[in-house]
Amino acid sequence: MKIATNLDGCELGPIRPPSEATSLLLRVSRNCPWNKCAFCAVYKRTRFSKRPTEDLLAEIDLLAQAAQSVRERASSKGTDGEVTTRAVLDLINDPVSTEEERRVALWMSRGGQNVFLQDADSLVRPPGVLVPILERLKERFPTVNRVTTYARSRTLAARSPEQLAMLRAAGLTRIHVGVESGSDAVLEMIKKGCRGEHHIIGCKRAIDAGFEVCCYVMPGLGGKALTSEHARDTAAVLRAIDPHHVRLRTLWVDKGSPLEEMRARGEFEMLEEHEMVQEILEMVLGLKGASGRLVSDHDRNLLMDLEGHLSNDSERLEGLCRRFLDLDPEVRDAYIVARRSGYYLTLDAFLSDPGALSTFAPAARELLEMGGGSLVLGMERGLRFRRI
Ligand code: SF4
Repeated sequence: MKIATNLDGCELGPIRPPSEATSLLLRVSRNCPWNKCAFCAVYKRTRFSKRPTEDLLAEIDLLAQAAQSVRERASSKGTDGEVTTRAVLDLINDPVSTEEERRVALWMSRGGQNVFLQDADSLVRPPGVLVPILERLKERFPTVNRVTTYARSRTLAARSPEQLAMLRAAGLTRIHVGVESGSDAVLEMIKKGCRGEHHIIGCKRAIDAGFEVCCYVMPGLGGKALTSEHARDTAAVLRAIDPHHVRLRTLWVDKGSPLEEMRARGEFEMLEEHEMVQEILEMVLGLKGASGRLVSDHDRNLLMDLEGHLSNDSERLEGLCRRFLDLDPEVRDAYIVARRSGYYLTLDAFLSDPGALSTFAPAARELLEMGGGSLVLGMERGLRFRRI
């Protein structure tokens, strides 16, 4: 395959959803066209730009060429073209391998079926640009059966049902939407650039066009002032959308984000971790009867096992929240510190370890004191190895 392009290798954007860890990444635009959300530091100090279609088509060809080379090199090791873990390791460690071959080999060894289009809001590109890209992907990689992307709900709401249907027919299958909150007051405070009604219109339109929709919500985003509205209205908006997945991504005040400055000016007061779990409980209660799945797959979440169907598993999900909330405050705080230090993934793992409480309770007491009664503040000031 001859590739006529000035392309200097493939581009990679900075992030993808956790559930796209095994996806091949294709950067259709750079950075975020909105870039104003107060909690988000990912694209600050960058400018949005659209990559030329010819570069994207050439990049897909380059990746397909790399895939062919990977298969041939695997065959030469007697694997019959199968990209085994051994073949991938050999290829990665071989100094003559290109960056594209390394990336594609890893992707192929993980099934080679999923592609994620980067960066923050791919659907700002019109179908006239995206459809040829999706078609080229299908042509060069026939094994791909899931192509996903991020889109802002406001962008989805601005696309017609016909435009969305064209993208769906061309092979785009799933859309990840940062809903964050359903409360207009919270959305305005964090400058999301939309209201709850845009979330509902945009996401429902995508669902009606046949897309699988994942809505991300952010416990803690209303801070102390707007926690009730945040929990109540987010549940209401999600109930109206009824997405396939509701994914939790707990608020974290990132360095360099506008929210960090708002907090320093006293305009935003963080919730404690147990108050965020209380918000999640209220959302779970408000979503009883929804047909989608609650997913806790972001490592910033405190309760990673909070997963299940919002219909059938609602009582279990409620029970998991209550179990944490009903803990003696000393045990609860010790778990928070243990989890944030990276020692345990779940409350079960912590509670079943006989030495856990005596190890972490003294540290939690010390951090609570350091934060003047706020464990969140204390951990920021005193937890040297805060990992998650
Ligand atoms: S739309 Fe997404 S990427 Fe853009 S600023 Fe908001 S959170 Fe960040």
